[in-house]
Amino acid sequence: MKAEIISVGDELTSGQRLDTNSQIISRRLGDLGIRVGHHTTVGDDLADNVSAFRIAASRCDIVIISGGLGPTADDLTREAMAEAFGQPLEFRPEAMAHIENLFKSRNRSMPERNRVQAMFPQTSRIIPNPHGTAPGVDLEVLVKDSQNMDHPSRLFALPGVPAEMIQMLSQTVEPRLIEELGLGHQRCFFHSVKLFGLGESDVEQVIPDLISRDRIPRVGITVSKATITLRIAALATCEDEFQSLIEPTLAQIRQAFGEVIFAEGDLELQDVIHDLLDQKHLTLSIVEVGSGCWVGQMLSEGLEPNKPGGLKHLAWQPHLPASATAMDGNSPSLADLALESKQLNRTDYAMAVGVYPPSSSFPRESSLPSTELQVAIVGPANRATLKTKSVSGHPELFYQRLAKTALDLLRKELLDE
Ligand code: AMP
Ligand code: MG
Repeated sequence: MKAEIISVGDELTSGQRLDTNSQIISRRLGDLGIRVGHHTTVGDDLADNVSAFRIAASRCDIVIISGGLGPTADDLTREAMAEAFGQPLEFRPEAMAHIENLFKSRNRSMPERNRVQAMFPQTSRIIPNPHGTAPGVDLEVLVKDSQNMDHPSRLFALPGVPAEMIQMLSQTVEPRLIEELGLGHQRCFFHSVKLFGLGESDVEQVIPDLISRDRIPRVGITVSKATITLRIAALATCEDEFQSLIEPTLAQIRQAFGEVIFAEGDLELQDVIHDLLDQKHLTLSIVEVGSGCWVGQMLSEGLEPNKPGGLKHLAWQPHLPASATAMDGNSPSLADLALESKQLNRTDYAMAVGVYPPSSSFPRESSLPSTELQVAIVGPANRATLKTKSVSGHPELFYQRLAKTALDLLRKELLDE
């Protein structure tokens, strides 16, 4: 069972408004175990709508359209559905009555134009819209697929207003998909594994057989701000069934990446650091030289302001001795800085972060040179562990990558504790 989602509107194709309906609908279909193969966005043009609807019906079993059901001249979804599948539009008194009642209940007289919202392709069914004047259209068609074979497809057209669209999706479309197409006994479950420190293609090289598209469960790789997520997806009837289905895949991934995996689920690196500190009842201070304070900032992001004592383990030292800002032979070493910070802030751990050359000297627009990140981590035994990594990348990502690299080094140190 494959679906296509079509969003209709000039405001979308011109970039004035973001198509959020497709995202919502895709997720909801995923929950019913329906794979979405295409998202199409089309402007308010009759011929373009007709061809988009025909193409979608010929390649997908379910098509969900949103937008273009209003009363104005640029609302063409009804007309395009009728034309695409060779059906006349007919007047539906029950839809008209609903629209008139809605106007009456709002103490307004109905403009003549709203009559078009009661016009439906001949064989279609109405999808009620309790809170709006645009009823939806539910149309079953038989078209030719790419091999010229008969192909049945079910189209649902809903209004573009997200609140109305969502209500009609759950009140009418989903129940019809479940009852009439027998869907919904399975839904799509996901499990995420998060990795830091490898590139996307490095990851793929390690597990090429897991990434293949027709595999069950399916494993997808996405990268966001230098964090790699392996997303395992499969259809199942319940969470337990899903967990046992993915167990061998998960074991293979854990085995292949070991410590490079920093979390499973939705956690970010900073959340993992906070969890580790919490579990071990440890406090931490951070001192940064030349890194633009990104490490401390990122770590503060993971803090919940309402959590009692949530701030206790981050004593970020904002003022540095002048000597620390120019790391040369005469200035204190990173290890000394970490130790000083630990003692000053009375924490169990301290991490000093140094970046050479200091990132403040980089122009943000141009591409950044490869930079050396050094960290010194001092733990309860007051011995410093020194670690070095080179960091590079697009200026927009550089600071995130820098901070994450430092946090990842800290994570491994805390794990070894
Ligand atoms: P329409 O049903 O085409 O009259 O759309 C009504 C309003 O819903 C538009 O003016 C947009 O503000 C909003 N809208 C339409 N389509 C979408 C979409 N795909 N995503 C988010 N908002 C939308
Ligand atoms: Mg529109």
